[in-house]
This record gives sequence, C-alpha cells and structure tokens, in this order.
Amino acid sequence: MCIFCKIIAGEIPSTKVYEDDTVFAFRDINPQAPTHILVVPKAHIPSVAAIDGENSGVVAHIFEVIAQIARQEGLEKGYRVVSNCGEDAGQTVHHLHFHILGGKPLALEMA
Ligand code: 5GP
Ligand code: ZN
Repeated sequence: MCIFCKIIAGEIPSTKVYEDDTVFAFRDINPQAPTHILVVPKAHIPSVAAIDGENSGVVAHIFEVIAQIARQEGLEKGYRVVSNCGEDAGQTVHHLHFHILGGKPLALEMA
C-alpha cells in the first residue's frame, strides 16, 4: 500500500479535515502555507496522468470538496489548488492529491 492509502486506512495517523465514501482530506505534514491541506481520492490513482473516463467522477467530486473545505477553513481571500504530476513537477507521493494552499498572499511563480 502507498503512504496515502495507509493514511486513508488509518494505518498512518493524520490530521483529518474531511472524509466521505470516496474522498479523504488531511493536513500536510510539512506545511508550505498557514493552511496546507491534501485532498485525495480513496481509490489509488497514481497521478493526474492516470485520470480517465472511468475515474474522473471522483475528481469532479474532489473539486466540490475543495470548495467546501476552503469555506470551512476561512479562505475567503483566496487559495491555490496544485497537483504535481510526475518527475519534472516534483511529485513525491504517487497517489493523486490536490494541495490546497492559503492563509497568506502566495508567490506568483508557477515554474
Ligand atoms: P507532492 O510533492 O507529491 O506534490 O506532495 C506530497 C506531499 O505529501 C508533501 O507536501 C508532503 O509534505 C506530504 N506528505 C508526505 N508524507 C506525508 C505524511 O505521512 N503525512 C502527511 N500528512 N503528509 C505527508
Ligand atoms: Zn495509494
């Protein structure tokens, strides 16, 4: 099992922010902003590159969850959603995840 599958299964502790039948969200262990949350599908999808017609429903649902979490976290001044895909993007955990970053003005650099 990958590290995020273990977190979803409760085998590795995490600070849970949200959970439903198909989606899990928890605080990043090494936060890069005052609010740094990871939102993941419970199903193991390796990255954005593996999204297809069979599994994109959960990705649409993840974006509904992201909007809900952002409201709960008081990010009314804005936030960034990031998904690193593959080596050049620096993806370190090969289980699809969306970072929610906020709580301060974020740097504009995208690359
Ligand atoms: P990536 O670099 O793949 O986009 O992001 C992986 C993220 O997972 C990193 O921000 C890292 O801090 C976070 N992370 C890695 N291992 C753990 C863990 O065991 N628990 C939590 N909460 N976050 C983790
Ligand atoms: Zn996994």
